[in-house]
Amino acid sequence: MPRMSMFFWDPEGLRFDLPTWPFGHPDGPDPEVFATYRELKARGLRPGGQEKVGQLGWWIRGGMRFAYLYRVDQAKKRRPMTPAKWASIHKALAARRTCPECKTEKDYYINRDPGVCGECDPNAPRDGDSDDPVFAA
Ligand SMILES: [Zn+2]
Repeated sequence: MPRMSMFFWDPEGLRFDLPTWPFGHPDGPDPEVFATYRELKARGLRPGGQEKVGQLGWWIRGGMRFAYLYRVDQAKKRRPMTPAKWASIHKALAARRTCPECKTEKDYYINRDPGVCGECDPNAPRDGDSDDPVFAA
């Protein structure tokens, strides 16, 4: 928990452009009405496109840090992972495992360099070239 600093007491937003309170101040904004992104997330919510309405400030190693505040009543439910979303993630991962040269899906991710699988990479070590167990099969 950062140490509270009244430097951030600015409910009118005169100095900070946004209404600002010291992080952890008991007279700060009502957490039932205003919540940070992290607090929303803990409640299964997300800002849902709304503008930030305020912020909490604290010091970290001589610098200022802020957590934006959002209206709880404007927050939206976080979208749970649907089977379709999982399917698209699995598809994307499979694409990363598939060699563009021989179109084979490997059991490893194709490196950006050389961008092809071990069989298609002319510079990849071959049997006998290396003691590396990966290639010595
Ligand atoms: Zn290949």
